[in-house]
Amino acid sequence: MPLHQGPEKPDERPVSVNPFYGETNPVGGMTEAPPKHRLPDTPLAPTTAYQIVHDELMLDGNSRLNLATFVTTWMEPQAGILMAECRDKNMIDKDEYPRTAELERRCVAMLADLWHAPDPSTAVGCSTTGSSEACMLAGMALKRRWSKRNTGGRPNLVMGVNVQVCWDKFCNFWEVEPRLIPMEGDRFHLDPQAAAELCDENTIGVVGILGSTFDGSYEPIADLCAALDDLQARTGLDIPVHVDGASGAMVAPFLDEDLVWDFRLPRVASINTSGHKYGLVYPGVGWALWRSPAELPEELVFRVNYLGGDMPTFALNFSRPGAQVVAQYYTFLRLGREGYRAVQQSTRDVARGLAERVAALGDFRLLTHGDQLPVFAFTTGPDVKAYDVFDVSRRLRERGWLVPAYTFPPNREDLSVVRVVCRNGFSADLAELFLDDLSSLLPELRRQPHPLTHDKEAATGFHH
Ligand SMILES: *Cc1c(COP(=O)(O)O)cnc(C)c1O
Repeated sequence: MPLHQGPEKPDERPVSVNPFYGETNPVGGMTEAPPKHRLPDTPLAPTTAYQIVHDELMLDGNSRLNLATFVTTWMEPQAGILMAECRDKNMIDKDEYPRTAELERRCVAMLADLWHAPDPSTAVGCSTTGSSEACMLAGMALKRRWSKRNTGGRPNLVMGVNVQVCWDKFCNFWEVEPRLIPMEGDRFHLDPQAAAELCDENTIGVVGILGSTFDGSYEPIADLCAALDDLQARTGLDIPVHVDGASGAMVAPFLDEDLVWDFRLPRVASINTSGHKYGLVYPGVGWALWRSPAELPEELVFRVNYLGGDMPTFALNFSRPGAQVVAQYYTFLRLGREGYRAVQQSTRDVARGLAERVAALGDFRLLTHGDQLPVFAFTTGPDVKAYDVFDVSRRLRERGWLVPAYTFPPNREDLSVVRVVCRNGFSADLAELFLDDLSSLLPELRRQPHPLTHDKEAATGFHH
């Protein structure tokens, strides 16, 4: 299903209604069932409409059992209250809601400090709807800076083949050639030397990922910058780096303080993160930051003044909710550095512990161990012939666990993995239940004559 289309069968049954859902009289008011794909002619009572929508959603999965997504599925009730209080606030209307704008500014300043901007007071940044929008903005800044240095040629962007789909979108939408570094052997992400070799005068930048959605590994950002320093010394090409820290930029600062991946590296021009991943906020918030105003061409910034003030904005959307930004500020205030460290450490402990115990089952080989992002990927061992990772994913789904299985990109298309994403809220107790379910499936899986999942796409679900 590429995009939502109209109904497959035009005469599809209308929404079924239960007479008991009527406002006061079970046989009044519910004479006409609302159509599914056409605006109903008449209104419904709010209680009835609510109950119908509520019932439709009942079969959505249980988000806490979803080990496929990186996105936050639990927040404190206080965050929920604040978000409800702010649901009428439009983030773009910075003049009408100056305090919301101020909280956004404070979040940017906190992130600039956390990511070691040389001068946090001059680093520039903004909230977005997520990392995808943040990556579009960062990519646009890279492209504009390149176009000022160059007059001809087709721009290109160098990155590992393991980049998240948002970078394919960026290249497609903004007509930039993607130059992808393939995986090789046991290297499942970018190689710094290979990245430098792909650069030329039309390279707008190199993207480094902290960490990879395929297996949770951190790309070697410092080595990448060193390889590009060396390239500059040899050729004069000065290629900026953007760090896609969708997940890791909210993990590494707390758990891997000695890892140098951020604005401490002079070549890092910009960084993005998803507030709604390990930033611990419900979906739709991301952040994009630039080292200094020099990295964000001024002409890309619009000045919005018709709503009453003169505010700079850099965004793809115009209107969008303010509640998520408020929730991000709440979470920063609520947890502080030590709180974030404690939460991320316990998530990492769950990931590492579970990875070890999956390995101890004997049938599986771990690609990663949950010690970078709290994420690990595993595949079946060389002796396992009766079943494959797609069977594992499909069978776990019967127990309610959503765990994607997928094939790796070039040059490791021969390799298929299952990936487990641990998040805050996936406790050691839940991990125990998961392991019990996985181990109790093994005898049946081992008895299969051969791998049985024909529709591999359907078995795997979503993994970006
Ligand atoms: C999730 C992710 C994205 C996209 O982020 P959204 O916040 O979902 O838009 C981009 N890059 C990486 C590495 C990711 O993990």
